[in-house]
Amino acid sequence: MLILLNTYPLLVSENMVFRSKEATMQGSVSVMVYSLSGLDKLNEENVAAAMAVVEETGLSRILVTDSAGKVLYDTRETGSAVGRYALYTEIVQALTGNDTFSCIYKNGAFRSRASSPVLYQNQIIGAVYAYEYDTEQAALLEGLQGNLLRLSAVIGVVVLLLSLVLSRALTKKIGQLLTAIRQVREGAYSHRAEIRGRDEIAQIGEEFNSLTDRLQTIENARRRFVSDASHELKTPLAAIRLLTDSILQTDNIDPDTTREFVSDIGREAERLSRITEDLLRLTRLDNSVLDAASVVDVLPVLEQVLRMMGLVAQEKGVDLTYDAAEGCTVLSSRDELHQVIYNLVDNAVKYTPAGGAVQVSLELEQGQVVLSVADNGSGIPEADLPRIFERFYRVDKARSRAAGGTGLGLSIVSDTVKRRGGTVEAANRPEGGAVFTVHWPVAKGGDAV
Ligand code: ADP
Repeated sequence: MLILLNTYPLLVSENMVFRSKEATMQGSVSVMVYSLSGLDKLNEENVAAAMAVVEETGLSRILVTDSAGKVLYDTRETGSAVGRYALYTEIVQALTGNDTFSCIYKNGAFRSRASSPVLYQNQIIGAVYAYEYDTEQAALLEGLQGNLLRLSAVIGVVVLLLSLVLSRALTKKIGQLLTAIRQVREGAYSHRAEIRGRDEIAQIGEEFNSLTDRLQTIENARRRFVSDASHELKTPLAAIRLLTDSILQTDNIDPDTTREFVSDIGREAERLSRITEDLLRLTRLDNSVLDAASVVDVLPVLEQVLRMMGLVAQEKGVDLTYDAAEGCTVLSSRDELHQVIYNLVDNAVKYTPAGGAVQVSLELEQGQVVLSVADNGSGIPEADLPRIFERFYRVDKARSRAAGGTGLGLSIVSDTVKRRGGTVEAANRPEGGAVFTVHWPVAKGGDAV
């Protein structure tokens, strides 16, 4: 850019000077040729007489030669060339009938040469040659060159300073970002990058902060999950230890007590295996390990679950009824659907006291398959509603445990349904009790299994 600034204007002005020189020099030469044009033959006297009337043109040297190139007139007084042959290229060219002009800029001066033939009745009788040595215009050009150089130097310094300041600011911001990244890498998830401004680095900082927010949320959830899971696993293990210690440390323990303790151990072991099974299922869902999907008719699966749960409900004195439409097909697997329906119906029966009722309905609604499981039990406190799909979240821990719950059932339902593009909601019924509603996109085509 600076090189262009230093060369282009100079080239243009040089060119302009060349062109103006060409016009004035050729003009002067034509005037001289014109004043010689009346002569039939050139000699020193008549040329001197003709040239005397030509105005002073400011040229450095004027030569007039005859047709053989012998100088008849020379404006230079010391070292005059009159009487000698001047075979400059320009004169030779002029004697062969051509007008010439050349101009060069060298050593702080414009040196211009122009020549033209002198004709008499279409015969070349001589040539006029003019030479100009001009330092005035050259000085102007040099002044311009100097100014451009100074301007370039100022621009260069300003650009350098600006880029220094900018790169300082940029390095500082990148440094802040790097510090934040390192802090977060070391585990300080609450650390945030504070970068002011609206530029790209500040935007990267904002993106980094929202990424860290997410990381912190995930990390908190992970910690809570690990602590909840270990707590859940510790409780049955502690019970098993206690029961085995009691058996081992009690002398002459009677067989009935032993049997009772061993059956308690069995129940706790069963609980442990239920928790681990649920945890494994959730891990598979987290890792997106899904059963192969196909178009499945929900009704047969629902009927199978209800046949199984019917006995449990009957035993508890809960009335379990259903109302189902045909053709409710979704993209899933039988096992997944079984798990979802089973968990919801099992909860409804579990949290409904004897004499209560559980109603299941399956229908098609605006391109969606809708399953709802409603009971008239205790319902769920409004404050707990948004959290009941969280892992290990229970409204009443003791009651859930006593009922054999793991606190993972609704998480499994929610994750499974979401992975297949569906949704699940929980609400309280105005008439009392809870209702869980699942929406799946309806799947068409293929043979439903
Ligand atoms: P749990 O194994 O404890 O049943 P879930 O994840 O299935 O775990 O349910 C979480 C909690 O939601 C339960 O502990 C219970 O407090 C509440 N809940 C679930 N279904 C119902 C229901 N139908 N009525 C009342 N409370 C319910």
